[in-house]
Amino acid sequence: MTTTSDRGTEATAAPGDRVPFFPPDLFHEDRDTLLRLLYEIGTGADQKFILGDHTRRFEDALRARLGATDVIACSSGTSALHLILTALGIGPGDEVVVPAFGCAPLAAAVLHAGAVPVFGDIDPRTLTLDPADAEARVGTRTKALMPAHMFSVMADMPRFVTLAVTHGLRLIEDSAVAQGAVLDGVPAGLWGDAGLYSFVQVKSFGMPGEGGAVVTRDEETARTVRMLRNHGQDGVHRGLHHVIGVNSRFDEIQAAFQLHRLAGLTARLERRARIAAHYTEHLAGLPGLTTPPPGTDGRCYYVYTLLADDRDALRDHLSAAGVDTHVYYPRTLPEQAAFAPVAAARPGPGLPHARDVARRHLSLPVHHRLTDAQVEHVTEAVRAHALRTRR
Ligand SMILES: *Cc1c(COP(=O)(O)O)cnc(C)c1O
Repeated sequence: MTTTSDRGTEATAAPGDRVPFFPPDLFHEDRDTLLRLLYEIGTGADQKFILGDHTRRFEDALRARLGATDVIACSSGTSALHLILTALGIGPGDEVVVPAFGCAPLAAAVLHAGAVPVFGDIDPRTLTLDPADAEARVGTRTKALMPAHMFSVMADMPRFVTLAVTHGLRLIEDSAVAQGAVLDGVPAGLWGDAGLYSFVQVKSFGMPGEGGAVVTRDEETARTVRMLRNHGQDGVHRGLHHVIGVNSRFDEIQAAFQLHRLAGLTARLERRARIAAHYTEHLAGLPGLTTPPPGTDGRCYYVYTLLADDRDALRDHLSAAGVDTHVYYPRTLPEQAAFAPVAAARPGPGLPHARDVARRHLSLPVHHRLTDAQVEHVTEAVRAHALRTRR
């Protein structure tokens, strides 16, 4: 069968013959462009480094591609969450239902806005917030639902839209990892009052630095987010502060570079989807393993994540076989020291699926720089472990 020495046709191989979890050569094809933009913008006569024409054009390109009302580039995905919560008027006295399994900003952004995160359990198949569980946690103080798309699967947005309408709640879609995904014909980010993307290096439209964007179909929300992003100014009258804002501005060099890279995004996402389909085809049904739900509708192959009964043994086996893997969230959010007091102050039903998945998930490399031979090697290494364990 295929081994690590059996490389595909691409010129670049992983250093030390390991299969890296993140590409070591992410901007390989765009290096000359990056250097040129750095030089041109860095030495340009107008010395405009933030929120200039490049940012505006980048926002316009994303907006056109999505069919959004507005896209507002900002300093990170985390900042985008904060801008949205603030623009929607969520603050002290309010509760926001968030998934118990996920990244820290889901809880921290709510707390920084002065509101309280209420942790809901996840669906054990999609690993995203379970709408029925979320509904059971809605109370008189609940102001918003904030599901997050997770690894390769979008949350059940049609159900969350219905829930938000039924209970008169705001719907914030944490689509940080799902740029390019579409569910029932609606792009990730456009399901709720607002959504967001993260452009930090590791995300599927990552860049060499920090950045994010708020996306929305609501003009009023867009206007407020634009003001909040730059100290409450309206972009026309400098020095007039209409609302209490923050510094969440976007970098011109990054905007120009992302504009350049946008053309290749679809092809890179398709490569990820093909690798994921290969994994699922060859790993589904193996003993002790659960593969993510297959398909293309509502899928974003940011990360390919298995559930393994003997996760740590599988991880060790893969490491010995030269395959780097990642455990994203080893604890649920309410089990983290930062958020345990918040969770303890508002006891609710248990979170059995979130706790179980925190202990069983393992993510495999799925990035577009993997060669076919590397993909085959990862597949065979996982199969060998699952079948050996069985004997
Ligand atoms: C990465 C991520 C964020 C935060 O984005 P940053 O750009 O890293 O601040 C928020 N939510 C989810 C689900 C993420 O994966």
